[in-house]
Amino acid sequence: MSMEDYDYLFKIVLIGNAGVGKTCLVRRFTQGLFPPGQGATIGVDFMIKTVEIKGEKVKLQIWDTAGQERFRSITQSYYRSANALILTYDITCEDSFRCLPEWLREIEQYANNQVVTILVGNKIDLAEKREVLRQRAEDFADSQSMLYLETSAKESDNVEKLFLDLACELIREA
Ligand code: GDP
Ligand code: MG
Repeated sequence: MSMEDYDYLFKIVLIGNAGVGKTCLVRRFTQGLFPPGQGATIGVDFMIKTVEIKGEKVKLQIWDTAGQERFRSITQSYYRSANALILTYDITCEDSFRCLPEWLREIEQYANNQVVTILVGNKIDLAEKREVLRQRAEDFADSQSMLYLETSAKESDNVEKLFLDLACELIREA
């Protein structure tokens, strides 16, 4: 009998411009909270959460950047052995969307070619400030064979779904 306390273990890595809400998404999912103010940086490399999907225990090891994206110093080691990437932008920030091709070049360069990538448009609670139309983002995700989801870490909108959809997709491809 297996000694493991899970059926699957997946490494999920968050990337995207600084300020788009990566740390808040991880906090919302793993701790069920939205950190007040700016001090959202997690001082550790990764967080673990185990979910159950169709009776199977799926352990998710979720890596956040701890701020390196500000200095464009995310290294190859960060991408190494990632099963999935959550590429995040902020729907209220056109610039964070326009940087996506740069992130895709990094993925191409550093990630393994079986990696599952989901594009996430975060901060949908700020609908009145939206700068990137949903259709535009969906078309872009389609063109790059990425899944697409819009979330609010603040309102806990689609955050659980994001990680569960990803886990389902990873099981399907495992
Ligand atoms: P990171 O640099 O990508 O890790 O971004 P953070 O998680 O640190 O969030 C950056 C800022 O955006 C913080 O001020 C957060 O409070 C805010 N933020 C993150 N997610 C959301 C969201 O879903 N809605 C709103 N309104 N603000 C958010
Ligand atoms: Mg962060």
